[in-house]
Parts: sequence; C-alpha cells; structure tokens
Amino acid sequence: MKHNFGAGPGILPQEVLKQAAAGVLDFNGIGLSILEISHRSPEFEGVLNEAVKLVKEELGVPEGYSVLFLQGGASTQFAMVPYNLLPEGGKAAYVESGVWANKALKEAKYFGDVEVIATAKDKNFTYIPKDFTVPADAAYLHLTSNNTIYGTQLQEFPASPIPVVCDMSSDIFSRKVNVADFGLIYAGAQKNMGPAGTTLVIVKDELLGKADRKIPSMFNYQAQIDGGSMYNTPPVFAIYVSMLTLRWLKAKGGVEAIQKENEEKARVLYEEIDRNPLFKGVCVPEDRSHMNVCFLVENPEHEKPFLKFAEERGIEGIKGHRSAGGFRASIYNALPITSVYVLVEAMQEFAEKNK
Ligand code: PLP
Repeated sequence: MKHNFGAGPGILPQEVLKQAAAGVLDFNGIGLSILEISHRSPEFEGVLNEAVKLVKEELGVPEGYSVLFLQGGASTQFAMVPYNLLPEGGKAAYVESGVWANKALKEAKYFGDVEVIATAKDKNFTYIPKDFTVPADAAYLHLTSNNTIYGTQLQEFPASPIPVVCDMSSDIFSRKVNVADFGLIYAGAQKNMGPAGTTLVIVKDELLGKADRKIPSMFNYQAQIDGGSMYNTPPVFAIYVSMLTLRWLKAKGGVEAIQKENEEKARVLYEEIDRNPLFKGVCVPEDRSHMNVCFLVENPEHEKPFLKFAEERGIEGIKGHRSAGGFRASIYNALPITSVYVLVEAMQEFAEKNK
C-alpha cells in the first residue's frame, strides 16, 4: 500500500478514483463515457450545477458571489486577477510569503503598480510576514493562504480596508473560511479539490467591470460568469472528479469535520518532528502549515537514507521542493491519519537505527 504525501497533484480519495474510473467507462449507466458526452448535455449540466452547489454549501458562499470553474491553473489567475481588478494607473498590494506569491505579483506588474507591503524573503519564507499596513488606495490586497513549498500558512487573515484576493490553492476546503471577508478566492483544483485541469474562482460580483480596460473574453470574469463557466468547452473530466471529491467531503461531515482531522494529522506529525532528535521543523511554529509539513534532518547525511527508508514503507512524495530542500509531507484532506502514523513510525524506527 502506498501513502501519498505528494504536494501536487495531491492525493484523491480512493472511492472518488473508483467512481471516476467507472464514469470514464460508462457515465451514470448512459452507455457513454464522461469523456465523450457533450458539455451542453443535461448530464454534464447536472455535474457542473452540483459542483457549484457543493462549493457554495461547503464554503458557505454568500449571495453576491459567483463560482467559476476555469482552466489555466492558479498561474492564470495570477494574471487574470489584475487584468480584471487593477485599473489602468492603479496599484495593488501584495504580501510576498513565498514563491507562488512572488509569481503572482510579477504577473500583476504587467497591468499596473504593485506595492509589496511585506515579504518573508529575508528568512527564505519560513514565516508569515504580518507587520504591514494595507494601503487604502490600492485596488486589492493579494494574499496566499498556504505556502505549499515552504510549509507556512496564514492562521488568521489580516483586516483589510480594501478587497482581499486570496490564492487558496493548497488549503481550500481544508478549514473554515469566511468567504464574505474576501473579494476573490482562487485555487487550482489539484490539491484538495480534484485533478489538475480546473481552477476554482469565487468572485464578488460587485468588484467586476471597474478596471476600465478591454479584456479578452477567456480572461474576463464577467464573460465566464455570463457563460456559466462554459464560455468555451470546459474541462469536463476535471470538473466531474472535483464534484465527486466535494460529494465525498460532504459525506464526511464537510469542511468542519475535515478541519478537525487535518488539525489532528498536523499535530501528530509536528509533535514527532519536535520530539525526534534526528529531525527538525523548518518554519516558525506559529505559522506552520496544516497541509504541507516541511522538515529537515539534523545531519544532512541522513537525508537520502531516510528517503529510501520511507519509500521502502510505501511512503511517497516526501522529498522537499527543489527550492526548499529537506522533506515535505503534504497531508491534504484525502490523506488518512493512518498514513501519518506510518510516517511517524518510520521516523521513530529510523532514529532508533541511527542513534
Ligand atoms: N499557488 C499555490 C499556493 C500553489 O501551491 C501552486 C502550485 O502548486 C500554484 C499557485 C500554481 O498552480 P497551477 O499549477 O495550478 O498554476
């Protein structure tokens, strides 16, 4: 048995994979594959409507927001956000909490002024910068809720006098958030929501139409809203599997229930990292992520042997990102706590053998 700690695409629930496989062969007994049916068919309309409904239910999306399933990954949102929300000659405020935040702000520079109001670059992004004032004259404040590469996470969102745009790619649906506090939320599906290929966008309608520039249709939120996420052929399969994953989440008790599980998984793993003399955490404890747990070996000579030791026990995907090094165990929604126990046991056995 494999224990998938991979960061992205991340683990999907086994039962979702089975349902998706069945749908590829014969969708709902109609004699056609989900890959063959028209995106305008009532069957796919049912899938998309259910996916939107589940997003609204699970995140408690209030009135006045639109839910979109787009393409191009979160990286396209790096550009689409300023394209739509940053007026010509205007500025936007960014918190640089990691590589993805950095990529987001670089894209925004194509559209207007960018004020980086805080950065954690000085300590290789091992903490969340919190000491900043949000400029009231900026069009929006951009945050990254969870820094997938470095393993930090915003435990509380800062108060803001301007709309908050948040990249929630790696912790969406893992914990409760108050959508009303945000102007726009986006997330690539491939961590907690489904396979790569679709991107969730939740946008407050009243923010649109103010940027005063011409926006090509595919990049225009309003055109995507008007087209019901079907301005062009949507990523049918990715939306289908996302819908199945959201059904699975709902059946488990929803975001509230999964948050408790995620907190427990994180607690167990960080406790071992702090207790075990061979390992150490990377980030400041108060900003540690409950999704991507980054850690190092005290003795660099132990790095490769531990990776091998873990792989022999079916533990997959714990090698750290190339820009952070060390180890990263991603403990997304679908990862059972039993897999965390297997990793903790491996760390204990390895420490015992290398005393
Ligand atoms: N933002 C965050 C926080 C991420 O973790 C990632 C990918 O891992 C991205 C953005 C980029 O996402 P995509 O590959 O969907 O463009």
